[in-house]
Amino acid sequence: MKPVVALVGRPNVGKSTLFNRMTRSRDAIVDDMAGVTRDRHFGEAMWEGRPFVLVDTGGFLSNDADSFAAHIRAQVEMALEDADHVVLVLDGKSGVSYYDRDLVDLLRAKGKPFFCIVNKIDGERHEIALTDFYALGIEEPFPVSAEHGYGFSDFMDALTEDM
Ligand code: GDP
Ligand code: MG
Repeated sequence: MKPVVALVGRPNVGKSTLFNRMTRSRDAIVDDMAGVTRDRHFGEAMWEGRPFVLVDTGGFLSNDADSFAAHIRAQVEMALEDADHVVLVLDGKSGVSYYDRDLVDLLRAKGKPFFCIVNKIDGERHEIALTDFYALGIEEPFPVSAEHGYGFSDFMDALTEDM
């Protein structure tokens, strides 16, 4: 069985962009498993000869603040059921949000180890944005640009190291 990696994070942080980059590394066929899942995309990925299944948790339903938080939490609960590895995606452009704290607390409460990436770090000059995220108590946030590839291979090396 291939390990399953789930991408979680609030909307607009770049999960789908990262999903595309991660699955493209192997010309993946990305399709929805209709009927089985709601709001989830599965893809095949491969890094350094190590295959895994990637899950993009997507979609979001409401602007209402309570249901927004509830939806993100539900998304994580779903992802945790499936996943062997969890990648929390944060947004280095918009900084730390309340929802990020909520997600970190939830993941910690579940006792599930997770990788944390700060996306939209499009080059070295953006790395300063990382400092905000240390406030979340995350030991090693990976700076990544899902769009441009910055930091991507270091992140992928770390993610797949123990697969
Ligand atoms: P999702 O809602 O978490 O799946 O986020 P998307 O992948 O749909 O991306 C949300 C927005 O962020 C889009 O406009 C992307 O173009 C933008 N975005 C994603 N990754 C990056 C990145 O690495 N750098 C920058 N500057 N923008 C990004
Ligand atoms: Mg998306």
